[in-house]
Amino acid sequence: MAEYKKADEKVIEDLKGIVGEKNVITDKSKMIDYSHDEFTLSDIAHMPDAVVKPASTEQVSKVLKYADERRIPVTPRGGATGLCGGCVPCLGGIVLSVERMNRIREVDVDNQMAVVEAGVTLMDFYESIESAGLFFPPHPGDESAMIGGLVAANAGGARAVKYGVIRNYIRGLEVVLASGKIIRPGGKVMKSSAGYSLLNLFIGSEGTLGIVTSAVIQLMPPPEASRSLIIPYDDLACAIETVPLLIKRKILPMAVEFIPKEVIVRTEELLKKRWPSKMGNTYLLVILDASSEDEIDKLSEKVAEVSLEKGALDVFVADSPEKQKLVLDIRSKIYESIKEDNVETLDIAVPRAEIADHVKKVMDVQKKYGLWLPTYGHAADGNVHTHIMKVRYDKGKTVPLPEKEWKEKLEKVREELFKDCRDRGGTISGEHGIGLVKKAYLSYVVDEEEISLMKGIKKVFDPHFILNPAKIFD
Ligand SMILES: Cc1cc2nc3c(=O)[nH]c(=O)nc-3n(C[C@H](O)[C@H](O)[C@H](O)COP(=O)(O)OP(=O)(O)OC[C@H]3O[C@@H](n4cnc5c(N)ncnc54)[C@H](O)[C@@H]3O)c2cc1C
Repeated sequence: MAEYKKADEKVIEDLKGIVGEKNVITDKSKMIDYSHDEFTLSDIAHMPDAVVKPASTEQVSKVLKYADERRIPVTPRGGATGLCGGCVPCLGGIVLSVERMNRIREVDVDNQMAVVEAGVTLMDFYESIESAGLFFPPHPGDESAMIGGLVAANAGGARAVKYGVIRNYIRGLEVVLASGKIIRPGGKVMKSSAGYSLLNLFIGSEGTLGIVTSAVIQLMPPPEASRSLIIPYDDLACAIETVPLLIKRKILPMAVEFIPKEVIVRTEELLKKRWPSKMGNTYLLVILDASSEDEIDKLSEKVAEVSLEKGALDVFVADSPEKQKLVLDIRSKIYESIKEDNVETLDIAVPRAEIADHVKKVMDVQKKYGLWLPTYGHAADGNVHTHIMKVRYDKGKTVPLPEKEWKEKLEKVREELFKDCRDRGGTISGEHGIGLVKKAYLSYVVDEEEISLMKGIKKVFDPHFILNPAKIFD
C-alpha cells in the first residue's frame, strides 16, 4: 500500500490559497455529508481531512499537482448518488467536490452537442437541452447525479436497451490528471480512430485515473411520440419471458422494466398515488417511442399482442402526458419507498435470455436466508436490481431482523448472487461501478490478467496512487 500524508493545517491553508477560504471545509459537522454516498451501510463512511470545492479546471489542476507532490489522497465527488461507496474518502485526505463547476458552457444546436461542466446535475442538463429542442436519451434514475459522476460510473438507466449508456454519448472530455496536467481527448466529432481511445478509458474509471472537469455530449432530436404500457401478470417468469419475444418480433422499446407488485404498493403508500392496475402480482412497464402517433399505435398493438400471448392479464395504456407522469413518478420513487430497510442495491447484468432464471435464483436465495430481496429492473438489457433488505417479508408486511442476523446473511446472499451471475456469463456491475463495496468480487467476472492490466494502466496515469485510492481494486 502506498504511503499517504494527511492534509494538516499548513496544507489546508495552502488549499484555501488555491480555491478561496470559504471553499475549503474542515468543520466535522459539515464534512459528515461528504463521508458517504447513497450506499446505505454506515460502516463504510469515512471522514476526509478536508473538502475542497474548486470553481475551475485550473483550480482542480493546482489542487491535484499540490496533492500529488505531497502524496495526499484525493477523492472526486459529484452528486454522491453512487451506490457502491465510490466517492467515500476511505483513506482520508481531500474530497474534491465539483459542485461549483456547474456551468453549461454551450448547447451547440447545429452539431447537436453540449459542452457541460462536471458539476452540472442531470436535472439541470435535461432542462437546458430540452429548452433548446434537443434530447439526451440515457436516463439514470437519480437526477441529482452530476455529469462527472455519470461519466466516471458509465451510468446506464432504463433506456439503455434502445439508446445505450452514457459512454455512447460522450464525444470529448476535459480531464485533469494526478500530476495536474490537463488533457482533452475527443471533441465535437462523431468518430475517431486516432490512436488508443483515452476518452473511453476515462469513462467508467470511477475517478481513479483523472478528474473529469467537463464533457462534450452528443444529443439527438426528441422522439415525436411516446407512450407507456402497464402490463400485469400473475407470474413473474411470464412477464420476463415476454421481453425476448418482443425483441424477436422486432419491437425495440425505449425501456422495459419488470416490477413486483409489493414494491408498487409501498410506493403508492409513500406518494399517495394510485398505479393504473391492481391486477396480478407483477408488472411490465413498457415505454415506447416513435416518429408518429400512427406508428406508436401500431407498436402498442403489437406489444399487447405479444404480452397477452405470454399470459398477461390485461394491458393498460398511459397515453396522456399526465398519465405517463403518474406512472414514471411511481416508478422513480420505488427506491425511496424501500430505502429505509435497504442495505445494498445490486446491479447485476446477465445476458438477456438469462434474466428469468437469475430472478428465480434470487427468489430461491430469498427463501433460503429469509431476507426480503425485492427485485426489479431493466428487463430488456439484462440489468437486474436486487435490494438486500434487513427485514423479511411476510404476508404483505415487513418484519425487522436483528442486526447480527442480517449482517451475517448479507455476505452470503451477495456471494450466492454474484456466483450465479458469473455462471450465467454476466457482470457484477451493469451500471453502478465497483467502488469500495464490490472490489472483493471483481475477480469473479474479470480475470487476473485483465486486473493486472488495469493496475498497470492505473500506475501510468496516477503513479503515486493519490486518485480515489482503494477503489475498484487495492
Ligand atoms: C435512486 C437512485 C437511482 C439510481 N438509478 C440509476 C440508474 O438507473 N442507472 C445508473 O447507472 N445509476 C443509477 N444510480 C446510481 C448513481 O446515480 C450513478 O452511479 C451516478 O453515475 C452517480 O453520479 P454522482 O454524480 O452522484 O457521482 P458520485 O456518487 O459522487 O461518484 C460516483 C463515482 O464517480 C467518481 N466521480 C464523481 N465525480 C467525478 C469527476 N468529476 N471526475 C472523476 N470521477 C468522478 C467518484 O469518485 C465515484 O467513484 C441511482 C442512484 C440512486 C440513489
